[in-house]
Amino acid sequence: MSAPTKTKYFFKANNDVLSFCACEDEPAMSPGQLDCPWCGCGWMIGCTKCSRSFIFAEVRETELSLIEIARRDAERRALTMVTEAEFAEWAAGMRETLENFAVGDIVVYLDGCYFCVGCTDIAFDGNYARHDLPRLPHVDALADPPLLKRILGDKQYWFDRELADRDRD
Ligand SMILES: [Zn+2]
Ligand SMILES: [Zn+2]
Repeated sequence: MSAPTKTKYFFKANNDVLSFCACEDEPAMSPGQLDCPWCGCGWMIGCTKCSRSFIFAEVRETELSLIEIARRDAERRALTMVTEAEFAEWAAGMRETLENFAVGDIVVYLDGCYFCVGCTDIAFDGNYARHDLPRLPHVDALADPPLLKRILGDKQYWFDRELADRDRD
């Protein structure tokens, strides 16, 4: 065993705007977005302890390795058939995602991507839809919490922007 190295990962930051999770400082689940992004699976982040969702995560350093977090994530999802290779693949993908962030960044999730709360002019093709937003609705909702569901919780928002060639689960 080599000396433990610190790993960056997403941890629950707070209960701002909307939160079904009462835990504190738990590692986030990896995205589990399904074909119903409006329900919250396309714009909230899950907790690996209780599997309920919240909005804001913070990038923190942890003694846990990404493989350990992957195992925890799989356990929470009751996935029992995950292979070592799949854990390694998950960790590699997550490491790549985390390269875009610094410790202390507060991030939100939207349709397959994580964004720092300070991001503006967010134009990208997500898993489900094409987005073009001046600011993150998650952040605007700090001053008006119902706004988040009004925008991202509205099926029509997603239908109007649905990618013609998106991967269907
Ligand atoms: Zn959903
Ligand atoms: Zn929780």
